[in-house]
Amino acid sequence: MLSVMRPEILFPLFAPIGTLKGVGARVAPLLEKVAGPIVRDVLFLPPSGFVRRPVTTVDAVHEGEVHTLIVTVEKHQKPGRPDLPWKILCFDGTGFLTIVWFKRHGEHLLKSYPVGAKLAVSGKVERFGSEIQMAHPAYCVDAANVAEIPQVETVYPATAGLPSRTIRKFTLEALERTPDLPEWCDPAWLAREKLPGWHEALVQLHNPQSEADVSLFARHRRRLAYDELFAHQMALAQRKAARRSHPAPAIRASEWADAIEKALPWRLTGAQIRSLAEVRGDLASGERMSRLLQGDVGAGKTVVAMLVMADIAAAGLQSAFMAPTEILARQHFETIAEPLAAQGIKTVLLTGRDKGAGRAEKLRALADGSAAVAVGTHALFQDEVAFKALALAVVDEQQRFGVSQRKQLQEKGDGVHLLAMSATPIPRTLELTVYGDLDVSRIDEKPPGRTPVATRAVPTPRLLEIVERLRAAVGQGAQAFWICPLISESEVADLAAAEARAKALRTILGFPVGLVHGQMPSAEKDAVMADFVEGRVSVLVATTVVEVGVNVPNATIMVIEQAERFGLAQLHQLRGRVGRGNRESACVLLYDPPLSQVAEKRLDILRKTDDGFAIAELDLELRGGGDPLGLRQSGFPAYRLADPVAHRDLIAVAADDARLVLTRDPQLTSPRGKAVRVLQELFDWKPEGLTDAG
Ligand code: ADP
Ligand code: MG
Repeated sequence: MLSVMRPEILFPLFAPIGTLKGVGARVAPLLEKVAGPIVRDVLFLPPSGFVRRPVTTVDAVHEGEVHTLIVTVEKHQKPGRPDLPWKILCFDGTGFLTIVWFKRHGEHLLKSYPVGAKLAVSGKVERFGSEIQMAHPAYCVDAANVAEIPQVETVYPATAGLPSRTIRKFTLEALERTPDLPEWCDPAWLAREKLPGWHEALVQLHNPQSEADVSLFARHRRRLAYDELFAHQMALAQRKAARRSHPAPAIRASEWADAIEKALPWRLTGAQIRSLAEVRGDLASGERMSRLLQGDVGAGKTVVAMLVMADIAAAGLQSAFMAPTEILARQHFETIAEPLAAQGIKTVLLTGRDKGAGRAEKLRALADGSAAVAVGTHALFQDEVAFKALALAVVDEQQRFGVSQRKQLQEKGDGVHLLAMSATPIPRTLELTVYGDLDVSRIDEKPPGRTPVATRAVPTPRLLEIVERLRAAVGQGAQAFWICPLISESEVADLAAAEARAKALRTILGFPVGLVHGQMPSAEKDAVMADFVEGRVSVLVATTVVEVGVNVPNATIMVIEQAERFGLAQLHQLRGRVGRGNRESACVLLYDPPLSQVAEKRLDILRKTDDGFAIAELDLELRGGGDPLGLRQSGFPAYRLADPVAHRDLIAVAADDARLVLTRDPQLTSPRGKAVRVLQELFDWKPEGLTDAG
């Protein structure tokens, strides 16, 4: 991608916020926190609400609403103690209004608002008994200056020391400095959707005339959201194209893989067969593969990776299979090493635990090519690890790795194919945003013969009942997970709660109980997990760190405390830890009553379905905006103007549009192409600046 200088037309928007009138040394850091460091960031700060301040008389006010009143000060009512409110009694000819100051009151109020002064005050009006009150008016000025009080006022997300009203002033100034930019959207589409031009949309954004104008669904907001989504999709499409254009060895399906597949104790599911074919299609193309294999926990992703690694080995090349934890790496190694060995393919396991001669031996096998497959943890992408001919990087639980880590691994060979795997169910509607630069295969079908996990929601007051049942089940040899959520501000307090729970369970149950938590050194964590996997511990108390892919077939019970605090996708993943064998499994969702309606619906979804993608989709619907699934952690971009839920219908349109633009004009030299470059500069979303998957 050629790098382009920022077009001059954008200079005013890229000026530091300090150039705005009134933004000095005190205000700048506050404004930067709310918006960002440059004028554009202030321009792109959407209002959070809208207030009307109609001028009325006291006899005509509506309780709970904002009014502007012209009143005369009758009397000050000083509080007997400083922690009591200071009241100013006023009259406007139709009735009495009491202005109330709970804080920051004192003699200065007497000076500012002397008896007899005529004031214009604006704020929310409430009634207490017979008294009509306005607490801390937003405006309290000389009645002669009533025009200073806006009739309608845009509200911005204020912060301590930076009131909404001041932010409003800055956004209006940013707006004044905003140039007209060439149109980057397809004009026919804009007309069809009745969307305004970019500049006009911004004017409307910051000058709402009604509630509807501050809604995410207002046309001008949709226009601006589209621009942001389009800029992002352009960058993703460019990165995908750039990756593809990189040559990589063409690999064909092999007899070795066929033989391994035939020897499996079961047949592949339809979804596994389809995914395998998609991966093989990429590998055979001669272009570098960047594919994500999505599948619920237990869907059977590992076997697909194993078969492809056999293809790579048959071509005389090597694969690296990277897992986020030692225990997962070990489990993968145990799953794949034997079937591969049956075809003469040597696999080595490389983790942080390997030291000295053993490690040197493994490194040698990878460097001279005698081992065709490496399974390991972060230890794999260290500098000392060299491959003779690395052709495929498989990254399990890919969201657990950073982009640079995946890159480091891919750079250990020339044209290394990437197969990322993830069990985080992303709703289909959002997939393009999170994984727009990857091709996606979905294993959306579970291997047959799994018994669904019986899921129940139980109020916390019945905890002891659950513990009793747990004791009975553990007495018969079952194993259980017990999840304590991270809830308080302080991790220390949360940890103390988990420790206390483990101790209590140990006492009540009389069985060995282990504890893992996020702050444990990973070696210690691995040791406790291993105790659990190998049955030395019956109950594993954990904060949410329970490793996503860990396989403990004997674990059949999952208890989750304060389930209402978890995201559905997360609950679903936790539940996926059990029900792996063919024995009946149970998941108990403990909650603190009373549940809100939405919370009740959410837990209900979980009881009714076991399909991670359906769950993610429903959760999205129920939760509405924000960061519905904790997606930001999985590489989801932080949009300013677009809301991934409210504007999700625009995502696919933007992706199609981006593809079309790039196909027609890969170098972006046409008039529209040039306009699109301006857009990309405006949002700073260029392919190399992306931070999500890949
Ligand atoms: P994932 O990584 O997608 O969570 P795994 O690859 O660990 O799932 O597979 C989960 C379990 O299912 C493993 O024990 C595996 O042997 C088994 N399995 C995989 N595919 C099938 C299949 N087609 N039929 C039956 N069992 C399967
Ligand atoms: Mg797995």
